[in-house]
Amino acid sequence: MAVVSRPPLALTDLDDAALQALVQELGGKPFQVRQVAHWLWQHGATVADDFKNVPKSLREALLARLPARSTAVAKVDAADDGTEKLLLRLFDGESVECVLIPDGDRTTLCISTQVGCPVRCVFCASGMFGVQRNLGAGEILEQVLHARHRLAAGRSLTNLVVMGMGEPMLNLDALLPALARIHAPDGLDMGARRITVSTSGYPRQMERFAAEPTPYGLAISLHAADDQLRRELVPTATAPVAEIVAAANRYAGQKGREVTFEVVLLEGRNDRPEDAAALVAALRGSPCTVNLIPWNPVPELAGAHDLHRPAPGRVDAFADSLRRGGLKVTVRRQRGADRSAACGQLRLRDLENG
Ligand code: SAH
Ligand code: SF4
Repeated sequence: MAVVSRPPLALTDLDDAALQALVQELGGKPFQVRQVAHWLWQHGATVADDFKNVPKSLREALLARLPARSTAVAKVDAADDGTEKLLLRLFDGESVECVLIPDGDRTTLCISTQVGCPVRCVFCASGMFGVQRNLGAGEILEQVLHARHRLAAGRSLTNLVVMGMGEPMLNLDALLPALARIHAPDGLDMGARRITVSTSGYPRQMERFAAEPTPYGLAISLHAADDQLRRELVPTATAPVAEIVAAANRYAGQKGREVTFEVVLLEGRNDRPEDAAALVAALRGSPCTVNLIPWNPVPELAGAHDLHRPAPGRVDAFADSLRRGGLKVTVRRQRGADRSAACGQLRLRDLENG
């Protein structure tokens, strides 16, 4: 995919060097660069009044040059279990979503990396219309800033998962700087162990991700260990399963942490005994956990591809066969199920409502 670089839309698009250059160009001293960064990243400053100890003329000159952010929260969809979906409006009228999921002491945020998704998995709402465009680094970072602002007093974001709309490995140019800002102690200061990126499996891009010094978590959406079945479910990420698993194993070895293999279970398609046996054969010996996700139905896709969510008994039987084969297994509980919960669905409703 060609890399299209565009001018920054907002201060969130600037890396440390660019922010420093801008503040100094506007007459700011080095310590004022640190103050500006402090208010932007630690306090989520958006207007001149927010930059408390920065001279008024500098704050105003800065925000006259670039707005603090380029996105706005257009809609919040709250489910009874506390899950909140935020729909963000982008500068060009496109929209993207992120989801806040409180669970006991933890609060997880799920963020998007593209408008739509080019991978077009047959079961996923995000891929239904292909991809419109990549998000910029600022648009990725702003999802975290907006979501953090919504947290109740005393709560903080404990986990970040890059599992919303889009394929993260196809937008590393924006994702890596955004994650760097989210991870940096003088940025949003989130530990690498609390950040997980999920990919539908691009071994070459996984190598680039692995070359980052920060040991982010990696999840691979495998869905099937048989190449032909995987190509039916994930039609465009066509690397052989053996190469994807090898890249995941290398990542685990380099970073000293396990990877997660995700399997969205579709009744009769990839939840049969032979599918469990193929997964056991492919993953035995890998430092990993398998996360089973019973499919969250997308009505538009259920009819088109004859897809069904398996009954709980089938999911348990599948999990048991993986465990008997020596794999570690978790089953994802459904959250926010009373509202369009699955990835990409809020934007889908937004598009339908014009
Ligand atoms: N594109 C990346 C990350 C975003 S999708 C990837 O595919 O990994 C995040 C996870 O949500 C993936 O494991 C994906 O398979 C899963 N998913 C997508 N649509 C779903 C649905 N309708 N029900 C359950 N899981 C779904
Ligand atoms: Fe894209 Fe992931 Fe959805 Fe597949 S599951 S279409 S890769 S967002």
